[in-house]
Amino acid sequence: MSYPYKLPDLPYDYNALEPYIDDRTMHFHHDKHQRGYVNKLNDALASWPEGQQRDLVHMLSDPESIPQHVRTAIINNGGGAWIHTLFFNIMKPAGGQGPTGELAQAIISSFGSIESFKKQFFTDATAFFGSGWVWLVIGTDGMLKIVSTPGHDLPQAQGLMPILVIDVWEHAYYLKFQNRRHEYIQNWWHVINWPLVADLYNQKLITI
Ligand code: MN
Repeated sequence: MSYPYKLPDLPYDYNALEPYIDDRTMHFHHDKHQRGYVNKLNDALASWPEGQQRDLVHMLSDPESIPQHVRTAIINNGGGAWIHTLFFNIMKPAGGQGPTGELAQAIISSFGSIESFKKQFFTDATAFFGSGWVWLVIGTDGMLKIVSTPGHDLPQAQGLMPILVIDVWEHAYYLKFQNRRHEYIQNWWHVINWPLVADLYNQKLITI
């Protein structure tokens, strides 16, 4: 991704995640919400030419390096543009097979079992208050942990490397599930792109 940023296509059809994540939600989420973040990121960068040359993730990982007059706009809209691309890629049709191999071992080492990880992830994602994201990250000690961030903040700003993320903003689920966030998370679990999560874990860097 580089300036001027463009809205990336979804890596599958809008209805491909049915019946778990519905076609209408995907249209609004990608065509309206993510597009809005991309456009507003470009608007903010229009008034900061130096930022146009910078790597978006590096910039968002070090928010203090962004001049104050555009900082909030870039964190909110740059974060929104980037995280949604990760989030849409972290889902796939016929996903949800669960972690395998080294990733499964790492989850077991960090949480005791796959089931404990899943339970904690569900609890944290259900309980998170307000608009934000719940992540599985590689911590600075190499262990996996579950963290949440408000708004569009990136865990990279805390030195954490994300490998899985769920959008818990209401726009991610309200059309289909209304206030039943827990039901949305259960459905989302069926479309997780575990091979990509494993790639992110093994490479320990984000290529999106
Ligand atoms: Mn969203």
